[in-house]
Amino acid sequence: MEFCDECGSMMKADDGYWVCGSCDFTKPKGDSDEYVVTEDQEATEVIESSDETSLPKTEARCPECGHDQAYWYLQQTRSADESETRFFICAECEYKWREDDN
Ligand SMILES: [Zn+2]
Ligand SMILES: [Zn+2]
Repeated sequence: MEFCDECGSMMKADDGYWVCGSCDFTKPKGDSDEYVVTEDQEATEVIESSDETSLPKTEARCPECGHDQAYWYLQQTRSADESETRFFICAECEYKWREDDN
């Protein structure tokens, strides 16, 4: 409870201030416990997994689900003098397979 410095009337709390009901005298509330900033916000990490969808798409039959569209990419396996191997990723079920397995 707070009383007005000007007229002694009861003041009411209003948005961080004491406001006199009689003469509209205002003063900031001394104890600003309403303004305690809590920093317990959880840092939510958004993990983007859109790598595969940016790959080129081609006609290839998925051995897993039979879908005929797949993303593909080249990857060097084992030693550097070996030719690159083409890998497919099924556009439907994301099954991954090597081209030379067929
Ligand atoms: Zn007053
Ligand atoms: Zn598939």
